[in-house]
Amino acid sequence: MKNYDVVIVGAGPVGLATAIGLKACGIDNFVVVDQTTEFRRVGQILDLLPNGLKALKSLDHAAYEAVKQTGLDFYQKTSNSQQAKTARWIQRNFQGEEIQSFPLNYDAWLAEYGEGRISLPWYDLQ
Ligand SMILES: Cc1cc2nc3c(=O)[nH]c(=O)nc-3n(C[C@H](O)[C@H](O)[C@H](O)COP(=O)(O)OP(=O)(O)OC[C@H]3O[C@@H](n4cnc5c(N)ncnc54)[C@H](O)[C@@H]3O)c2cc1C
Repeated sequence: MKNYDVVIVGAGPVGLATAIGLKACGIDNFVVVDQTTEFRRVGQILDLLPNGLKALKSLDHAAYEAVKQTGLDFYQKTSNSQQAKTARWIQRNFQGEEIQSFPLNYDAWLAEYGEGRISLPWYDLQ
């Protein structure tokens, strides 16, 4: 049986970020365990907002770039032109009136918060 310096229980974002952080500090003798029986392409899309992306960038630049490449494209082509239009998340009341909305694409968030917003499948983040 192998001895480890660190055992990380749970391969969620926190466990995996901890693993990346340990490696960056030169600690290699660790194991990540998870109760799942296998890692499969299941689960939903999740959003990484500017603070999450900033954290990932400071943790591992290659992971940050890979996540940015994987992010879903929220630009839509309009029907009558080739001009790109930004998709928005819209909340409506029971009368169908728009009560809140925000853009979904990376650049709009980058302009406002200094970092973008990415939507990607959970499996891809993992
Ligand atoms: C429906 C939903 C939507 C969400 N959407 C977003 C979003 O869009 N953006 C966002 O930033 N956050 C979102 N969140 C929150 C985000 O999922 C959590 O903040 C994040 O997953 C927490 O990470 P974690 O690593 O602490 O825990 P988890 O992701 O819960 O990971 C814990 C891991 O530990 C494993 N585990 C648990 N117990 C044991 C055990 N005893 N032995 C071995 N393994 C074990 C589990 O299998 C799991 O893989 C959402 C949450 C939910 C429920």
